[in-house]
Amino acid sequence: MITQKNIAKGKYWQKGIFLIEGCTKVSAGCKNCWSETYETTRRKRDFNIVNPRYDRIKELGRGKPCIWSIWNDLFHEQVENLFIEKVLDRMWERPNNAYLIPTKRPERIPEWLEWSKRVHHGGKINRPFIAVGTSVENSDAYDRIAHLKTVRAAIKYLSVEPMLDFVTLTENTLKEIDWVIIGAESGANRRECKIEWVRDLVQQCKAAGVPVFVKQIHLWKANGNLFETKLKAISYTGFQPKLTLVKDINLFPEDLRYREYPKELKNER
Ligand code: SF4
Repeated sequence: MITQKNIAKGKYWQKGIFLIEGCTKVSAGCKNCWSETYETTRRKRDFNIVNPRYDRIKELGRGKPCIWSIWNDLFHEQVENLFIEKVLDRMWERPNNAYLIPTKRPERIPEWLEWSKRVHHGGKINRPFIAVGTSVENSDAYDRIAHLKTVRAAIKYLSVEPMLDFVTLTENTLKEIDWVIIGAESGANRRECKIEWVRDLVQQCKAAGVPVFVKQIHLWKANGNLFETKLKAISYTGFQPKLTLVKDINLFPEDLRYREYPKELKNER
């Protein structure tokens, strides 16, 4: 069961797993990839070498049922179809868990599904315990939504993280989307996520009835106080403010305090 403690920390998953080591950058959202920092500094490996770890698949779904997230990109072009298939097989063996599959390469999914139908089990992706998501950091990534929508998955979600600009979705686009996650960038080189971008997207989700999870936001800190904009911080305190990552939902502006899940994902474990 996802706990209030997890939710309070802005964690929408409980366990993450590197089934694939390495990745390559595809868009602006990848610029400060945390996984690259982790692999190059902690593990001392070349991040651009993509290595699907068959030996780790059995770790997926082990232990108490919970929400798992697959780190790095399962649909990277260097990950073979058979590996993806084996990961999905494993998910089916452990249906009491929920699985999040985020990708910046949703255009690869139909190709894999085709292959799977021809030579294997027929693409085991359409189940309520499997959520397939794509990243939409700015308008350059809108094509990914169209690709995601062609996939018959029970839960489709958008990860607007790191949010780098307004993300304006039509009512029609949101119709087939089951969940939206919003997050400002973390790390020393974080790029500002304006509060008006977050507010605008939250309002779109609310109007369309789509659950929204605001993971973390940026506020400006000056003289111990938090402000929505740099200008406000300077004019109220006279001090130079610092762009601050805020995860504590109690510090969010009231109209942004949403940490919602799609029903199917939360209820089953
Ligand atoms: S797709 Fe994800 S894991 Fe790969 S480089 Fe981009 S942010 Fe990092």
